[in-house]
Amino acid sequence: MRHLLSTKSLNRDDAVTLLDIAEDMADVANREVKKLPTLRGKTVVNLFFEDSTRTRISFEAAAKRLSADVINFSAKGSSVSKGESLKDTAQTLAAMGADGVVIRHPASGAPQVLAGSGWIDAGIINAGDGTHEHPTQALLDAFTIRRRLHGPASRGRGLDGVTVTIVGDILHSRVARSNLWLLNTLGAQVTFIAPPTLVPADTSAWPATIGYDLDAAIDAGPDVVMMLRIQAERMNAAFFPNSREYSRRWGLDDERFARLSSHSIVMHPGPMNRGLEISSAAADSERSTVREQVANGVSVRMAALYLLLSGDREDH
Ligand code: ASP
Repeated sequence: MRHLLSTKSLNRDDAVTLLDIAEDMADVANREVKKLPTLRGKTVVNLFFEDSTRTRISFEAAAKRLSADVINFSAKGSSVSKGESLKDTAQTLAAMGADGVVIRHPASGAPQVLAGSGWIDAGIINAGDGTHEHPTQALLDAFTIRRRLHGPASRGRGLDGVTVTIVGDILHSRVARSNLWLLNTLGAQVTFIAPPTLVPADTSAWPATIGYDLDAAIDAGPDVVMMLRIQAERMNAAFFPNSREYSRRWGLDDERFARLSSHSIVMHPGPMNRGLEISSAAADSERSTVREQVANGVSVRMAALYLLLSGDREDH
């Protein structure tokens, strides 16, 4: 694997291999010394043009556990705020010998531009580009679902027949898009539930069922309910009357949470708006995988960095 830019372009074998390697990496996290020498001498740059907490520190922990050197570059306070272009930034990182670049950018497609540019010969990982994709988030979600469902017998398996209902701001969510492609590739069935204003105008090419009624979706008893954050920073218009109305119709409140079927798990990529899209009782319950998702994120990102950067990259 040369770059990890989207889940749409990931085939089932590659996805399952990555999840299996993440299982091996998770074993490392349980050791007393949580470190492998695999990427010693390699440099990974975290290039963040958009705010992030968990994704950036997750990639940092992942790279450090593989013994890579890590440079954190955040656009705020850098020459980017002086108007430097992506090209000049990339060429600077190339001159510093970056082997891997983890990029988050507000513009959809920025990681693809970087990977195809010739400005830098590094493995590129998309850590979230605008409303487009966030592939490592979807991979850690799939990893978390697979582990909850199959436990130690997870290796080698996909998610055949698993029903996943993804609820909320589909329009602006790169998490929803990356999950849509990956979950389908792994054999799961995806349902999106959202206010009509938060669904893209044309979803005919999406392998998903679209609905607007969260109560009906809950009564259908899905294996997984994934709540999405309301992406207020990407909203330039009023997409719903007010937050009380939103949570009344599309929030996983205590009453809906109590009605979930006994085997369902509750997911959220974070950061959560407690009381808006998810209640505290749901977020903090045994069924919630929110903290597991964070822990699994490090293992999945270790697997991605390993696949991209270990060995002689020309051969991959
Ligand atoms: N952290 C995820 C993202 O960067 C989800 C979110 O922000 O709502 O897309």
